[in-house]
Order: sequence, then structure tokens, then C-alpha cells
Amino acid sequence: MRDSRHDLLFEPVQIGPVTAKNRFYQVPHCTGMGWLRPKMAAALRGMKAEGGWGVVCTEWCSIHPASDDLPHPNAALWNQDHIRDHALMTEAVHSHGALAGVELWFGGASSANHYTRETAIDVTSIPNLAGHPYQPRAMGKSDIRELRRWHREAALRAKEADFDIVYVYATHGYLLSHFLSAQTNLRTDEYGGSMENRTRLLRELIEDTKDAVGDRCAVAVRYSVGGDDGEAQSLTQERRDGLEMLAELPDLWDININNYYQEMGVSRFIKEGSLEEHMSFVKSVTTKPVVTVGRFTSPDTMASQIKRGVVDFIGAARPSIADPFLPKKIEEGRPEDIRECIGCNICYTGDGLGTPIRCTQNPTMGEEWRRDWHPEVIAKKHSDASVLVVGAGPAGLEAARALGQRGYQVMLTEATRELGGRVTRESSLPGLGEWRRVRDYRLGQIEKMPNVEIFRESELSVDEVLSVGADHVVIATGATWRSDGFGRSHPYPVKALGSGTNILTPDDVMAGRMPDGPTVVYDDDSFYMGGVIAEKLRRANLPVVLVTPENTVSAWCKYTSEQYQVQKSLLELGVEIKTAHSLVAYDGRELMISCTHTDRQQSIKAHALIMVTARQPNDGLYHALQQQFESHEELLFRSLRRIGDCDAPAIIAAAVYSGHRYARELDTKPDSDMPLQVKSVLLNDGMTNVERQ
Ligand code: ADP
Ligand code: SF4
Repeated sequence: MRDSRHDLLFEPVQIGPVTAKNRFYQVPHCTGMGWLRPKMAAALRGMKAEGGWGVVCTEWCSIHPASDDLPHPNAALWNQDHIRDHALMTEAVHSHGALAGVELWFGGASSANHYTRETAIDVTSIPNLAGHPYQPRAMGKSDIRELRRWHREAALRAKEADFDIVYVYATHGYLLSHFLSAQTNLRTDEYGGSMENRTRLLRELIEDTKDAVGDRCAVAVRYSVGGDDGEAQSLTQERRDGLEMLAELPDLWDININNYYQEMGVSRFIKEGSLEEHMSFVKSVTTKPVVTVGRFTSPDTMASQIKRGVVDFIGAARPSIADPFLPKKIEEGRPEDIRECIGCNICYTGDGLGTPIRCTQNPTMGEEWRRDWHPEVIAKKHSDASVLVVGAGPAGLEAARALGQRGYQVMLTEATRELGGRVTRESSLPGLGEWRRVRDYRLGQIEKMPNVEIFRESELSVDEVLSVGADHVVIATGATWRSDGFGRSHPYPVKALGSGTNILTPDDVMAGRMPDGPTVVYDDDSFYMGGVIAEKLRRANLPVVLVTPENTVSAWCKYTSEQYQVQKSLLELGVEIKTAHSLVAYDGRELMISCTHTDRQQSIKAHALIMVTARQPNDGLYHALQQQFESHEELLFRSLRRIGDCDAPAIIAAAVYSGHRYARELDTKPDSDMPLQVKSVLLNDGMTNVERQ
């Protein structure tokens, strides 16, 4: 039975001509699929609806080829094919009683139109905001008329695709933001100048959309109420004035702030419900339903937001990715089963990389169509076999959990007292506390399974593994950071490292071995670890220099949308940063580094050097067992596999995925030549599903 305090989350809410069955609203979010992979996208959105979300939206959906975001895979509603593609989604969403929303989008100066090669248009000819060497054409009156026509026609196509909610998208630095802003809109005609003029195009688009589809579809506006770093108070005030002017025009307000770093900030910097301070006035100026996000995973926080009148809907992107069944779990009174988002933003990396979404917590995310994976359902075991899982990091924990769910007899052994492997270790680093949820969710589930036994402080040797007598053995013993300088920019050990010198790795620091004087962190890994170790040492009052061959600190963090904050916070903490330099030598007192562009060398005095370069798989046990496996006549066990970082060191999401996949595939015969199970059906446009999934 659900907690009665959460009842209000299940009240229906009317949005113009349609009614949402509850207050759970999956706001538009990218999936790395867009118009390129409509079947994958439809299955993903359908899964959210099955999981109980009352409203499920698309990602940003281009209204016309003059707005194309590739390599970021946007959705599109340009033609009949796109209508057919979107109908797959609306059908899937409707089949579970949810409403389907589409976020009509026009990028303006944010779109370089690399794919369509159409000229972008915007309020003025601002340089392309994604950094490409393009500028849009400043919109004349005929451009404005055309834009209105494109938007209207896309809305009609949305209706034909059977969407229930059609967005006018006025934030996130896209075209309409530039019309609204007094800084960028310097027009002297009726679309520039006063706030009334600057909101004119937005007003017209809302009215056009209502006129075109308002009989059957609700019209939502996604709108920013400010909150940008260092933004003048007057600008925030203006956006509020703009909202007040249009307050009753749309059927729903989807409110956020322009600052992506906060709105979808990583948990390292931003905690649950961070937009509330910006939101508090909205409900007092409109009677229309309001939604916003806040990486809400706690039903108590959600209920409090509704009760206190902050919002009418609980908006979510990431919490719905980590757990598409979040609403169902609250409804059924089992919030302890929620797979809580950890705020790592791995889900966002597909947008920048142009690849399908993945999630650290939810290994099935993005695999609903391609692999037919369901986040809550898994095939029952195919045999009475027993499985020994060695190592309880994210890979081992997920393998044990999913095998346990299938009904196998599972023994999970872990060398240390603590379970969780790298997740437990890394979550002790500054800002990464929420990462513990990867372990906690899995342990919580395993504790309910009588068929999964956990053995702590059990570092298994080859003989011990053999003496267990399990039918299947899977090795998940992780990886260890290297200290020899081997890394991406130097894929062989650095010779000039004095022996016995004070060289440490992240593993040492996480185990509590701290340097005792000025320290250099050498980051040739370029994701979060180098920056976070530097932060930890600096917070312990050590003088710290971070050296990296990249041109920015924690360069790969651009994909998780946190690179800017990492560099900012390290600078503010007083970490000295040396980019574009690689390690040459270290003798325990002095470090030589060389400029990656000029080869010019310089020295830095350092008591200690922390190597954040590459990891070595802990695969000794696997190889020793493999040898036994191959040299014995009699069957020692039916299968031996390695998973996670022990197989190939990578991100935590990859370890979880590998454990999950192992569990799914046990006792099956996956086709190793076509592991993605791509079905070979020709689509209308003649492309196969391999090209267009
Ligand atoms: P992954 O990310 O692949 O899950 P981790 O490094 O997080 O890898 O976890 C590996 C876990 O395996 C660690 O908790 C480690 O203590 C454990 N481990 C390593 N060797 C053994 C062993 N021989 N027996 C049992 N546990 C082991
Ligand atoms: Fe949350 Fe990370 Fe999953 Fe994204 S990838 S939904 S941030 S757990």
C-alpha cells in the first residue's frame, strides 16, 4: 500500500483540452536517438509510460530543416516519414494511458545546420553559439512570417502524429531566448525594444499553435526564469515580467533556467530541487499548471513540492532515465525499490557524442528496442545452475542482482569488508557521495533474495574458486590505477621515474594515503578522477598543481556538462593548473614537464606525484582459472567469464552494463556476430533498421 502522504502525486491534472492521469511528467530530454533512431526512441518513451509517467515528451524536435543540430541527434517533424516515426512513440505512450508531448524546436544561432546546409536564422547575426564558424542571417519580416508558418505546419504534423501536448520552446539559448533577451534583441521594429515587443514572436507562436491544434492538443511553453551565473538582476526580472505578460496564454508552463550547469548539474555540484528558489513566484502569476525539474527521486520531496504549491507536476528527465518505473514504485508503496539517479550525467554524453543514451544506474536504458530489455522484467532462469560471482563492485553487484532476479543460486564473494568496489571508494571523494546509490540500490534488492548469498572478506584464490564447485564462474575483480606513467599520451611506462619516489595513485588516496607536501596531480585520463583528486588534496590544504596534456582540465567532462564547473571550482580552490603539458620525469623532488605544442620543458618542485593515467585490469585470477579450465580433462565448471573493469576498464555505467548483460545472457546463445539483435526489416524510406533504428 502506498503512503497516503503521496496520494496527491496521483491526482489527475487538466492541461487545456487534455488530462494527465497523475502528476509525473517526463519533460523533454535528449536520448541521442532523435530522427535517426525512431524505433529505439519510441520503445524508450513507451517504457516510461509503462512505468507510470502521466506525461511523456520527446526530445527537441526540429520544425524545419533550417534548424538542424547534428551531430547532436535532435528529433524532427519535417515530413510524412517523421509523422510516421513519431506515431510509433505516441502509440506506445498512449497504450499505457499517458499523454505524449512534443517539444517543437527552432535553434537559431545554436544550429550550424551541418547536415541540411540551410542558412540558420536568428534575431541578429550572432556567432554560432556551439562554437562553429557560422553566423545566422538576421531575420527580416519575411523570415519571421516563414518561421511562423513552419511552426504552425509542424504543430499540425504533431497533431497528425497524435501528440497531446505541443510545445513552444522559448529557452536554453535557442531562437526565442534571443528574441526575449534585451541583450541580444537589438531590433528596432515591433519585435525589439520593449518587453511587449520582445515577447511578440513567442505570443504569436503560442496563438498560432493554439489556433492550429488547440482544439485537441494542449499548448505548453518551456520558458526560462533566469538564474544565470552572474546575470544582471534586471534580466531575470525581465523574464519574470515576460512570463506575467503571457501568464494565461498557454495551457502549461514548463519552467527552467537558462543555465544548463545548474538545471542539469551533476550531483558533484548541484543537489535535488535546486531550481526552487527561481520557481517560487511562478504559481502566483498564473493559474495554468506548472512543471519544473530538480532531479527529484524522493517521493517526500515531490509531495512537498506539490503541497507547498511550488509546482503542479513533478518534472523529471534523469530520475525517469535511471528508473522509468519510479511512479509505479511510489504508487505501489515500494519507494525503496527506486533506482535513484546518481547525478553523474552519463546519460547526457550521448547527446554530445551523437550516440544512443546510456545510464549508470539503469543498464536497460536505450536498449528497450534494440535488445528487448525491460528495466523491471527479466527472463526466468533456464537451468538450475549455480553461479559464483567474484568481486562485488558495480559489475559483480549488478550481475548478482540480475542473476538473482532470474532465480539462479548465486554466491557473491568480496575480498574486503565493504561492498561496492570502486563505487564505494569513489563516493568518498568530494561531491561524489550520491554515487553510493549504485551500490545501495543493488544491495537493497539482493537483500530480498534468498537465492543470493554474500561472502565478505573472502578474497578467493584459484583453489578456493574451484572448491566452491559452482556451475558458472564470473570474475568481476575490477582494475587498479597504474603508477608507471603509462597512459593515453604516453602508452608505455615513463622510464625517468626515480625508484622509491613518492608516486601515488587515486587508489592510494582513496585508501587514505595522503601526500605530506606540495603535490602534482598528473591527469592523462581526462575524465573526473584527476580533478576530483586535486580537489581532495587541496581541501586538505596541500599546495596542488594539476598537470594535463589536454587543453582544459577534466576535458571529457564536457560531455557530462560539468567541465566548466570543474575548472572553475579548482581555480577558486587555489589549484594551480598547467594544461597542455605532459610528464617527462620525476625524481621524488622535482618533476619535469614538457609543453605538448612546443616541447619546451619546465620543472616543478613536488613532494609527491599522483598518477591519474590508466588502469590495469585485475585479471590474474581470471587467467589462472582459464589455464586450469583449458588444461583439465574433466569439467571444472560450465563457463568462465570476466566482466566489468577486470575485462576492460571503463566508466561505472559500462561495468553495470557488463554485469547486467552477463546475467541476461547466461544459459542463452547470443549471436556473437550480431550482438545487437538488429531485425532486418526495411523501412518506408528504404533504409534498413541497421541504419535507422
Ligand atoms: P567493477 O567496476 O568492474 O565492478 P571494482 O573495482 O569496482 O570493479 O570492483 C572489484 C571488486 O572485486 C573490489 O571490491 C575488489 O575488492 C574485489 N576483488 C578483487 N579481487 C578479488 C578476489 N580474488 N576475490 C574476491 N573479491 C575480489
Ligand atoms: Fe542519473 Fe547518471 Fe543515469 Fe543520468 S546516467 S540518469 S545522471 S544515474
